[in-house]
Amino acid sequence: MSGRKKIIITIDGWSSCGKSTVAKQLAKELNYVYIDSGAMYRAITLYFLRNHIDWTATEEVNEALSNIQLDFRFNEHSQQTEMYLNDENVEYVIRDLVVAEKVSEIAAIREVRNFAVAQQQAMGKKKGIVMDGRDIGTVVFPQAELKIFMTADNTVRVERRFRELYEKNPNVTIEEVKNNLEMRDYIDSNREVSPLRQASDALVLDNSKLTMEQQLEIALSWVKERLLA
Ligand code: C5P
Repeated sequence: MSGRKKIIITIDGWSSCGKSTVAKQLAKELNYVYIDSGAMYRAITLYFLRNHIDWTATEEVNEALSNIQLDFRFNEHSQQTEMYLNDENVEYVIRDLVVAEKVSEIAAIREVRNFAVAQQQAMGKKKGIVMDGRDIGTVVFPQAELKIFMTADNTVRVERRFRELYEKNPNVTIEEVKNNLEMRDYIDSNREVSPLRQASDALVLDNSKLTMEQQLEIALSWVKERLLA
């Protein structure tokens, strides 16, 4: 399927419904670049927290953004793309609940979104890209050839994220994870600037009861259709 035609694939949806898993599967299968747009908002949040930025003050936000350099670098060892903030690998620290607790608030700031979206659009210039997030099919690449909107049952999502976080921090509770997911979904879908929405031309993938193989099979069948179109 990795012929000459290259497309843009967007994957949006609620927190922890498996977007990045499908995105990574597709990128590997198609030999496309995978971009985790949420990692950019998480890295910006980490910078704001570490530097005690008052994100309610626009000038301070703009000044902070001018000091932030974000890069995705491929790690040969893990075979994954990792997030770098000003030359520091922050791929693991940005997954912490401390960052997750503030990221949606910071991602709702217009200046922050303009900063991230401009870089995301530049990454899609050559196509051959899979990007996941909340506004990728609606705002970043409204012209994308394939848009997927993912959902999964709430209990499935909470359990998945809990297992992930528990591995790194056994003090985390299921209540904390549930509250964080609910809060992020609420802020993400109610914010003024590019709220989480299903694009009118997106295909819905509910993976509550699907295996990894089944979800990949469905997504690949959609890719095939678009490549033949
Ligand atoms: O995808 P992930 O859960 O890592 O994203 C972290 C947060 O970043 C989301 O809860 C959301 O607030 C924000 N985000 C966003 N737009 C995107 C991707 C992520 O607002 N395209």
